[in-house]
Amino acid sequence: MWLHPREDERLASLLSYGILDTVFEPAYDSAARLAARACNAPAAMVTLVDRDRQWFKAVYGVEGFVRETARSDSICSDAVACESVLVIEDVLSAPRFAHSALVAGAPGIRAYAGVPLIGRDALPLGTLCVVDWRRRGFSHSELEDLAALARSVVTHLELRRVDTSLGRDSQCLLRDALDSLRLRRAIEAGEFVNHYQPIVDMATGGTYALEALVRWRHPELGVIPPALFLAALERTGLMHALGRSVLSDALDLVAELRSTSGLVKVPKVAVNVSGTQLGSSGFSGTVAEELSARGLMGSDLCIEVTESVPLLGTEVAAELVELRSYGVGIALDDYGSGNATAGQILELPLSAIKLDRSLVGVVTVSERARAIVVSTLKLAEQLGLQASCEGIETTAQRDLLVESGARLGQGWLFSMPLERERIQAHLTRPEPGR
Ligand code: C2E
Ligand code: MG
Ligand code: MG
Repeated sequence: MWLHPREDERLASLLSYGILDTVFEPAYDSAARLAARACNAPAAMVTLVDRDRQWFKAVYGVEGFVRETARSDSICSDAVACESVLVIEDVLSAPRFAHSALVAGAPGIRAYAGVPLIGRDALPLGTLCVVDWRRRGFSHSELEDLAALARSVVTHLELRRVDTSLGRDSQCLLRDALDSLRLRRAIEAGEFVNHYQPIVDMATGGTYALEALVRWRHPELGVIPPALFLAALERTGLMHALGRSVLSDALDLVAELRSTSGLVKVPKVAVNVSGTQLGSSGFSGTVAEELSARGLMGSDLCIEVTESVPLLGTEVAAELVELRSYGVGIALDDYGSGNATAGQILELPLSAIKLDRSLVGVVTVSERARAIVVSTLKLAEQLGLQASCEGIETTAQRDLLVESGARLGQGWLFSMPLERERIQAHLTRPEPGR
């Protein structure tokens, strides 16, 4: 039996979701049903590959099917071990599986396609798979739909993990925590910290930039991701205060690396900025002051704006134009996640585009995603914009993106977002990017 190269960590990660041996739930049942329909297959499953068994969170199309089987009978276990989409058109002619109980006995699998469910720790937990009782192939568009559905299964798993790790009482604590007084105290007490994720030059393996990603180190709840508190900060008008501390920390880091790391070329920092921050007059002036207070240049900083905020408001555009005039980079974040308009690319003084991970995540299984990636890279080149790809998790994705002309990449394959204290060691390690 093949095992994942980080099998122990993978099993620990799987356990942290608290999902094994739970009841059937509609979200996973629907994913299995839709997967079967999308692939024109009689049956589909959401499987989780445990140490010695494969356990089914959802089963569609096999009446009274067992909830678990031995791992040695599991085809999904191989998809997990290889961390890639696995298609077997004729299972009987695959020596590894011809004698599996699920093939030789009921339900008599003859064809298989499985997409690994890769969780937040960048480790595969199981698969969303479809099976057939006759030998057959699977088309690109079927595999593309299967991959898209697998991503929605992962989203449900992630939501469960947040619930599990917080626990029920903690969820009440979290609700309380999002109260404006508590948030203000948290900002003042320095509970919000930046982690930094490298944006890598895939040609050299070197770090081109570091993206600041804020986290809340809550004294009782542990580390809380931005998706859970950014909206509350916006609602309570505290986004400016947080944004300012995120920016200061990021610029401090560049200044510090310049004076202490001995690096010939210190990476720039990228900072995410919300529409409300940009909409407030004086944002660009603040940035200019913060840069000059540390002796930094505009080119040491890139501001990331998401396409979901209405960026074309006149104040926002004016702030961005001013920032650009100082040499600060402006990147359109999450490009391809659905909200970008040609207007934004035309009107905004952009210097870069970041391709969203929803495209990158399916680039190896979806010809359409690949076509969008290739054309966006071309568009960026023609407009003189730098392009980077977010959410690269596998070497297959990286290789395909590089082959398609991408140079800059970011994702768990290269590095998770790192605590500030670990950045210098990361940048000065002997073989960057390998
Ligand atoms: P983003 O700017 O698009 O950041 C990338 C997100 O993708 C981060 O999530 C990062 O941890 C995650 N990520 C990185 N590599 C991978 C990968 O290989 N696979 C997958 N599945 N995910 C990956 P995070 O840190 O939870 O941040 C979420 C969003 O919150 C950010 O998306 C950004 O829009 C927002 N955000 C984070 N920090 C700030 C901030 O200081 N200010 C503002 N306004 N927004 C922020
Ligand atoms: Mg970003
Ligand atoms: Mg993004």
